[in-house]
Amino acid sequence: MSPSRSISTQNELRQARSSVRFCYLCGQSVVAGEYDSALASVNKDHVPPKKIFSASDRVNPLILNTHYSCNHGWSLADSLFGELFALYNEREFTEEKPPILETQEFSHKATGEQFDAITGVDIKQLLCRILRGFHAALYGEFLGKGTEISISLQFPSVSFEDGIIAEGLHPMHSEVAWKLYNSRLSNNCDRVEIYNSKCKYICVWDKLDNGMVCCLFSISIYEWEKMVDLRLVPESCCVGLLMPKTGIPDGAAVVNGIELPRPLIPIYNPFRD
Ligand SMILES: [Zn+2]
Repeated sequence: MSPSRSISTQNELRQARSSVRFCYLCGQSVVAGEYDSALASVNKDHVPPKKIFSASDRVNPLILNTHYSCNHGWSLADSLFGELFALYNEREFTEEKPPILETQEFSHKATGEQFDAITGVDIKQLLCRILRGFHAALYGEFLGKGTEISISLQFPSVSFEDGIIAEGLHPMHSEVAWKLYNSRLSNNCDRVEIYNSKCKYICVWDKLDNGMVCCLFSISIYEWEKMVDLRLVPESCCVGLLMPKTGIPDGAAVVNGIELPRPLIPIYNPFRD
């Protein structure tokens, strides 16, 4: 078994930052004189954004170089994402500094139950950015714009107009979670564990039946699997697939087919005990 890639220690984080010599958002070089002047200057980006984490958890962050024009437009989105975790990051709101995240009441047509739904934050879009950063740091490769990314989020999206759940867990969620759970327990996955272990990412590579290469991943931020509404979904953690056209990176962990006995109840959270 090849040793898995891991990024968590200070050394590994430093190494990742210095070896990634391209902007993880656009793929162009960050070396002076090697990129378009239209991209302005080079600055740095915390991946994921530090606004998510409490001051005491902002240790061992992953910092990558990027272009100013590639990352400067994300501040509001980062703040919204950070507010999702207000319970964990000790964000305090006052009259002068009220929350900017908006909630709206949702009445489920099928059951008549009431829910508070969050509006105005595109979690998948924010996750795609984090995935690009982790992929760059783990494999030294840019996750090209043409890469298909499929995310099964544990938070359903709702249609206020129709009163229906527009998108729940993906039908493949439990299968992907099961493979990741096996890979994690058999130490056969690549991983990023940062921000005082409050952000954990695991991934393993596999071939689909149609021969396409994909990277199965799961990401946990402050145990957000516990933030799900159990009336709508089982305890689950975000999983997904990346399908880069460049194939399996050198040294990446690949699914080895070794499986534990299947439990009676499907697993939706690869990080569960
Ligand atoms: Zn860039």
